[in-house]
Amino acid sequence: MQDLTGSCYCRKIEYRLQLASPEDARTSLCHCRNCKKAFGTNYGLTAKVPKEAFRYTKGSPKEHAADNGSGTTIYREFCDTCGSFILEYGEMAKDKFRYIVVGSLDTPEALPPKGEFFCKARASWMPEIPGIFHKQEIKQ
Ligand SMILES: [Zn+2]
Ligand SMILES: [Zn+2]
Repeated sequence: MQDLTGSCYCRKIEYRLQLASPEDARTSLCHCRNCKKAFGTNYGLTAKVPKEAFRYTKGSPKEHAADNGSGTTIYREFCDTCGSFILEYGEMAKDKFRYIVVGSLDTPEALPPKGEFFCKARASWMPEIPGIFHKQEIKQ
């Protein structure tokens, strides 16, 4: 059992993540254009977890839904006071998974990455992370 907590920057929103095993979380970097925009930096870092492992314990997020550019709706939840991005999920994963923004965890080092996606869009100055898998495209 791995019991983790997280929040937005201003802590108006807090959550709890209860994983049956650390293997239930799949953390990955994504270098795609959408992640660059949504995270405001050169890659996105999320942990894919079972939907039932995640629950808000304080506050409720604002949701933003939009087409990701290939016909799939992506939902993003964030704090409407401080703007922190908390999680995202696509239409297909809606009933099963949540992709938690790793930096929102109180202990982000608890869930190190297992892979990198959309490496073809990697910033030219950013090296590959050794010892994990690398995919040129697709996520999920
Ligand atoms: Zn906040
Ligand atoms: Zn991405």
